[in-house]
Amino acid sequence: MDVSRRDFLKITGSTLALGSVGTALSPEEATAQELRIKNAKQTTTICPYCSVGCSILVHTIDGKIVNTEGDPDSPINEGTLCPKGASLFQMANNPARLTKPLYRAPGALEWREVEWEWAFDQIARKVKDTRDRTFKLTSKSKIKEKKPDGTEVDVEKEFVVNRTDGIAHVGSAAMDNEECYLMQKLLRSWGLVYIEHQARI
Ligand code: SF4
Repeated sequence: MDVSRRDFLKITGSTLALGSVGTALSPEEATAQELRIKNAKQTTTICPYCSVGCSILVHTIDGKIVNTEGDPDSPINEGTLCPKGASLFQMANNPARLTKPLYRAPGALEWREVEWEWAFDQIARKVKDTRDRTFKLTSKSKIKEKKPDGTEVDVEKEFVVNRTDGIAHVGSAAMDNEECYLMQKLLRSWGLVYIEHQARI
């Protein structure tokens, strides 16, 4: 009998759904799992946790996520997920999940819930203020210069840099190539030089 990878994963239950990491499902459990996603809409997503970029199947019913599991068609993870990726279901269905930004004012002991618009305005204001305060048009650096007799000397020169050292940006494994490209353009236009991405950390 030909058994596809997808069939194999379904039979063994090794897709790690339902948090059953490392354990095969019993036939009853496998049937329950089948029923659980029977009429669900299936879409794919990329795990947001690390730069491996595993593909995940997401099953939804009436817009609510009822199941997530490794995508067997992905050449990256071939249906498998590490414990973090296998727990993705709980990221969406979790009463403890934060759905609004929290803000703790300087000196305050308590965090308070704020509106997204207010948070966006604050971030924009702080980026603008920090950039204005720290922007450098030029910077001095030492370079080697050759003298007429062929020897080299260190010379301090001023170069146009148009940059800010006051802001850094760390990207996300959930961003795709196009998003990274756009983010690079934005950050470089602000004059940032400290630009990192999780894939390099
Ligand atoms: S499932 Fe694990 S290895 Fe794969 S991207 Fe997510 S965190 Fe990384």
